[in-house]
Amino acid sequence: CREIGNQGYFEYYSEEMGRNAGYKLEMEQYLRKALENEELLLNYQPVYAYQDGEINLVSAEVLVRWNSKELGCVGPDKFIPIAENTGLIIEIGNWIIRTACQQGAEWIANGYRAFRLAINISPRQLRQYDFINVLQGILSDTGYPAEQLCLEITEGILIEDDQYARYILNQIKELGISLAIDDFGTGYSSLSYLKHYPFDLLKIDRAFVADLDIDKSHNQLVTACILMAHGLNMKVVAEGVETADQLTFLADHSCDYYQGYYLNRPMPAQPFEALLK
Ligand code: C2E
Ligand code: MG
Ligand code: MG
Ligand code: MG
Repeated sequence: CREIGNQGYFEYYSEEMGRNAGYKLEMEQYLRKALENEELLLNYQPVYAYQDGEINLVSAEVLVRWNSKELGCVGPDKFIPIAENTGLIIEIGNWIIRTACQQGAEWIANGYRAFRLAINISPRQLRQYDFINVLQGILSDTGYPAEQLCLEITEGILIEDDQYARYILNQIKELGISLAIDDFGTGYSSLSYLKHYPFDLLKIDRAFVADLDIDKSHNQLVTACILMAHGLNMKVVAEGVETADQLTFLADHSCDYYQGYYLNRPMPAQPFEALLK
């Protein structure tokens, strides 16, 4: 899957196909075979700290791609919801965590300096009754250090089942894994609400970052968000940084980390390794 255009990668899929129930069913059937046919792959997008003109890699977000034999390249925005609804997300999600940790362990063995891997976890994965065992198993099998793993979750689960969310998130933290709240600002939760959960990082949704140059009210929103997150002892990641002006604005307002096309697009393991060198 080539990472081009505004979508990030080239897709054959169209909105019209998305409204077609038959097409969705077809996609589901192909998705069931995607793992065994080795059609899923992981791309890595660097996340940087930027201070006094100096830029340092702090983590990489793991982003799944589906290179389908029948459908061409399908983006995660299209197939993750189907995987969620069918329960396929459990098998696919576990494969993603295992594959990323194997890759991370290999990079450590090759002597590259330490950085975190950030993996997106969907609500149904968190509800897996043995999720903690799965995580423990993968960490011990691969030897990847929990301290270098971060799980990104969206606020959906917090709203659905607040008590369970708090329980499972605390269990994850006890393994030594860090937690990020993803796409912050797009849902209903407020910052004050977040203090009830053990998040280490807050990722400002790219819609707010994109509007920084255009919508001045977003400038204040982002600034307030950074201040309050820091007040709650969280670091802030800005996602979707596409211009130098956005980076400058964010840096001037004490944002901690940056991710976006302006810095790097997501890339397969090999070019990512070249970057580490
Ligand atoms: P996300 O976790 O918010 O991931 C960030 C998305 O922004 C990625 O889209 C990334 O390619 C894109 N992006 C990064 N920088 C820029 C930029 O500067 N401009 C623009 N326009 N986009 C940028 P992607 O890879 O299509 O993933 C979409 C969503 O699918 C993710 O949003 C995440 O919610 C979900 N997803 C991706 N991989 C996985 C996975 O392995 N597991 C699960 N459960 N969900 C995943
Ligand atoms: Mg994410
Ligand atoms: Mg996000
Ligand atoms: Mg998203």
